[in-house]
Amino acid sequence: MSRRSKIYEGKAKILYEGPEPGTIIQYFKDDATAFNAEKKGTINGKGVINNRISEHVFTRLAHIGIPTHFIRRLNMREQLVRQVEIIPIEVVVRNVAAGSISKRLGIEEGEPLPHSLIEYYYKDDSLGDPLVAEEHIACFNWASHEEMQDISSMAIRINDFLCGMFAAIDIRLVDFKLEFGRLFDGDYSRVILADEISPDGCRLWDVKSGEKLDKDRFRRDLGDEEEAYREVARRLGLLQGEDNGPGEVLDLSSHRSRMRGTPPSKK
Ligand code: C5P
Repeated sequence: MSRRSKIYEGKAKILYEGPEPGTIIQYFKDDATAFNAEKKGTINGKGVINNRISEHVFTRLAHIGIPTHFIRRLNMREQLVRQVEIIPIEVVVRNVAAGSISKRLGIEEGEPLPHSLIEYYYKDDSLGDPLVAEEHIACFNWASHEEMQDISSMAIRINDFLCGMFAAIDIRLVDFKLEFGRLFDGDYSRVILADEISPDGCRLWDVKSGEKLDKDRFRRDLGDEEEAYREVARRLGLLQGEDNGPGEVLDLSSHRSRMRGTPPSKK
């Protein structure tokens, strides 16, 4: 690994130069941060699981015609991706109120939204990734009108597909974050899906129990982060031959009480 040149180190991933021009190696770390890196920690094995989950999701999205940066998984923690110029906008799609929208607008967490909502945040850690309108994006030329049309139509298609994919394994897709990048071909560029899709950037709630199976376990000190991430991977069929037998659903509350020797809680 040290032989390669590092391009960038983020909070959860490291980017290295790829083997061919126009490629990058995306390395998934176990580091977890929240609240603009005010809270830092480690979720053991997270990088390995997110690498697998993101590979699975990006592969399935490619099958429905979403252009993505993913080329192939290289090993447990790395994937080969196309080099893109990241558009400095975090695209958040919400189906159910939770997190910042609940705080900002006083909507109870868990309240289904009248329809799916797309929000844009300007990617700037020093500003805390502020919520912006499409007018700001156009005014400051962060993305063109045509790029925003591509981004919003892809975000809607991705949401429709992922809602179904997760519903099939008894998971409610509450919200998630996407990032897009420009893939250049001479003077021409097109927008493709970049970054990752994993429980780090999604809210995933068990349909029956409401258990959180995502990074909110870390953000809110709920514990069992690793088990929750593994449970998502297991339900997606990515941990075959490991963990519980097929069809046996991990009950996080019972798991926790077994570990602590206390009676199971309701949620
Ligand atoms: O915090 P907020 O409610 O705005 O987050 C909405 C969704 O976007 C959540 O699923 C969260 O995990 C994701 N997100 C992210 N990275 C950020 C901000 C939000 O992955 N910087």
